[in-house]
Amino acid sequence: MANIKRDDMVVIITGKDKGKRGTVSEVRPREHRVVVGGLNQMKRHIRPRQQAGAMQGGIVTFDAPMDISNVMLVCPHCSQPTRVAHQIQEDGKKVRACKNCGQAIVDKKPGAR
Ligand SMILES: [Zn+2]
Repeated sequence: MANIKRDDMVVIITGKDKGKRGTVSEVRPREHRVVVGGLNQMKRHIRPRQQAGAMQGGIVTFDAPMDISNVMLVCPHCSQPTRVAHQIQEDGKKVRACKNCGQAIVDKKPGAR
């Protein structure tokens, strides 16, 4: 039931980034979590490490994983947040589809644009 995939546009529906949109950079199905680029950012304090040389101490901002149920897929066709329907195409392939406009949502494959 991977309704959300990498490179999908999603909107955050809860928490401090509610209403913001971003692109999924990572999906962790086992943890039921997603990482969305530039959103749900958290700060982590890092101590300087002498032995590492280049490592500097300070505060690092990173995109924290969040529960997959905190995001909703944004349809690339009607640009509305939507629930995902599943369609079976003529060639037998399963695709996701938008419940608002009914258009198929094709997975974006990096390198195959
Ligand atoms: Zn749509």
